[in-house]
Amino acid sequence: MNWKKIIVITVIILVVIAGSAAIVFYPVYRFMFQENTQVVDKELTVVQGGGGNSGVLVTDSAVVVIDTKMGGDAEKLYNLAKSKAGAKKIIVINTHYHGDHVKGNKFFKGSDIYIGAYDPKFLSENIGSENMPDKFVKDSLILNLGNEIICLYNLGQAHTMNDMVVLLRNRKILFSGDLIFHNTNPFLKRESGANVDKWIGALDQMLKMPDIGMVIPGHGLTGDKAMITSMRNYFLDMKIAAADPSKEKEMKEKYKDWTQLPMMTSPGATIDYIRNAAKDANKMER
Ligand SMILES: [Zn+2]
Repeated sequence: MNWKKIIVITVIILVVIAGSAAIVFYPVYRFMFQENTQVVDKELTVVQGGGGNSGVLVTDSAVVVIDTKMGGDAEKLYNLAKSKAGAKKIIVINTHYHGDHVKGNKFFKGSDIYIGAYDPKFLSENIGSENMPDKFVKDSLILNLGNEIICLYNLGQAHTMNDMVVLLRNRKILFSGDLIFHNTNPFLKRESGANVDKWIGALDQMLKMPDIGMVIPGHGLTGDKAMITSMRNYFLDMKIAAADPSKEKEMKEKYKDWTQLPMMTSPGATIDYIRNAAKDANKMER
């Protein structure tokens, strides 16, 4: 074989490897980095990607930022909020403690930062003292900011130990945090306190909330109340597959179009998570 042939074959192999890697890791890229800005109305902007989805809302008395992203996109979000705020104060709300939703808190020094009632020591160890919120919501809290009333509901343990959803009451818009991953297999981690049964319970509570028009999920495109039901159905189906291996193939097929994050989230990973949790519960009972 001459050198020319070797070079051509090497290039082809490299292109195939690079192409396959791009296909596999593109969902991760989109999940973590891609930014889309959706102007919902003249006071509310939703910034998608760059970590979790975020909201920036201008009210009569303050600018409210829901989830602060991470890395360079966090700083961009801060600059957007600052430019809208002018002399108004900024209030930050974190739906939960995961880094892709809170690591931009450090830019908002001096702002009130709300989060669910986590143990402060656990929180500080996980997100760093520079990102520490200073207001902890145990059950619920209403912020009356003039032209919008913002309701914070800590739905308790679900995706983490304290998942908070944020309702813009006048607009009938719900920020669900990571209780909803839109058409995406959800991220389940034991150390975070993820609990599928309690997660379904939290989705039930959301379904009972009256008058929700638009839903902003933690990740993925925005939608309506149907997303709550679809996330709930996903977990019910995964529970069926976890309990009955003969149903596993059918359920994996049913959600084949939902985004998977390589080595992190997939129907298989969710099924395993449910099975392991059931095993642990059995051990505890013995
Ligand atoms: Zn999360």
